[in-house]
Amino acid sequence: MSLLELNAVTKSYTGGDGNDVEILKGCNLTIETGELVALVGPSGSGKSTMLQITGLLDTPSGGKIIFDGRDCTQMAERDRTLVRRDNLGFVYQFHHLLPEFTALENVVLPQILAGLSSDAARGRAQGLLERLGLEHRAGNRPAKLSGGERQRVAIARALANAPQLLLADEPTGNLDPNNAEEAFLEFLRLSREEGLSALVATHNMDLAKRMDRMVRMEDGRLV
Ligand code: ADP
Ligand code: MG
Repeated sequence: MSLLELNAVTKSYTGGDGNDVEILKGCNLTIETGELVALVGPSGSGKSTMLQITGLLDTPSGGKIIFDGRDCTQMAERDRTLVRRDNLGFVYQFHHLLPEFTALENVVLPQILAGLSSDAARGRAQGLLERLGLEHRAGNRPAKLSGGERQRVAIARALANAPQLLLADEPTGNLDPNNAEEAFLEFLRLSREEGLSALVATHNMDLAKRMDRMVRMEDGRLV
């Protein structure tokens, strides 16, 4: 059984003129456990929409999303929230770290929200930050971190609750090429160590090629 299966997923919005605009036009995709998949394609082709829907942050207009054997399109919102919290991790182009909290606290928080003890959460957070080369930055707030460091903290936070699937939307899009490469390689290494699956939208073909597979989106279709 695949970890994730998207089956004929469509998404339409009602446009300003009252007509429906179809953004996703029947997308099929399967991701196996441990598989790292790059999502490439021009701006406006539907990559972010696809990630939002796969991450259960938005609902498709049609089709099915099967995650770990469960049909998420038939689930109550409460259960979708639990799948998001316990099984999915998110990294965005902007780090979205909480500014008043330290790097460590930003990685601790989602674990506390998931019910972990403070000690266990801190232990896991420290371990993740160390593995991302950030142990000396753990006590800094985001404002006192470089762009690359912030994005690595955001990666640690996404991995905090040991998700099965990581979804990332141009995670290195705001970084200069050297920082982007470094953060991305850290991310790949950690994902492999943790046996994670990932779907990562990126414009960086060099980085995309280092993943297990590349899928291309064009005008709402995976080609
Ligand atoms: P990408 O991430 O590949 O750049 P997006 O998924 O952001 O593509 O957008 C795909 C298309 O969907 C774009 O034409 C965009 O304008 C449109 N779109 C995205 N979100 C909405 C929305 N909430 N309402 C209407 N149109 C949207
Ligand atoms: Mg996008």
